[in-house]
Amino acid sequence: MSEVTDTVRENLTVIRRRILSACERSGRNPKGVDILAVSKFHPPTAIAAAAQLGLTRFGESRVQEAKAKIPQCPTGLEWHLIGHLQSNKARDALKLFQLIQSVDSLALARELQKQAEKLAQPLRVLLEVNVSGEGSKFGWVADHLLATIQEFRALHRLEIQGLMTMAPFTTNPETVRPVFRHLRELRDRCAERIGAPLPILSMGMSGDLEIAIEEGATLVRVGTALFGERPTFERVG
Ligand SMILES: *Cc1c(COP(=O)(O)O)cnc(C)c1O
Repeated sequence: MSEVTDTVRENLTVIRRRILSACERSGRNPKGVDILAVSKFHPPTAIAAAAQLGLTRFGESRVQEAKAKIPQCPTGLEWHLIGHLQSNKARDALKLFQLIQSVDSLALARELQKQAEKLAQPLRVLLEVNVSGEGSKFGWVADHLLATIQEFRALHRLEIQGLMTMAPFTTNPETVRPVFRHLRELRDRCAERIGAPLPILSMGMSGDLEIAIEEGATLVRVGTALFGERPTFERVG
């Protein structure tokens, strides 16, 4: 076994334990919480190690990086796009990713619909919400999403499976609890409006996954806690 595998295995054990205790505290079934391994900036060797340990869902934030990396990774993995997507890369994204978590505008959704139509394939998506309303962030403002969600019905190639959010960065994870709670409440209201269940709540990262689970997360996006610090400087945007 390589050193990467040993590190990832130990990290995964810790993450699973954290998920279990959060589920116990909140009376949830651990089977209802999946891990998305956020592999951005990490090499295919790290991804292969995680895949070997049974992880199947991987998250990347840039189309360009994913395009270069995915062909070097084990096959049969499920790839999620978690970073902002420009409409002119929609076609590439559709070919690389099985689920796009970062649908943050109707214009982007329409472009994805158009490309999915051309390729005659369905596309699973999540709608990214900017719950805290920070200006620096992508994502729907809650009221705007509620007012717009009906429009998605016409985009029949898109399967909207739920909502995603990124909590504001903070050193005190408790301050993010209301953000996660709001996302869950918004999901319930959106589901009611479109008459579909929207089962996925993608929220919680390395630092705050327990709180996200306590507030209903079904998919936690874990990078640093699984793979360690990202090896290269992370560009913003
Ligand atoms: C990078 C990233 C993560 C992972 O963050 P960690 O703190 O390393 O776990 C999760 N979600 C999104 C959208 C990201 O860009």
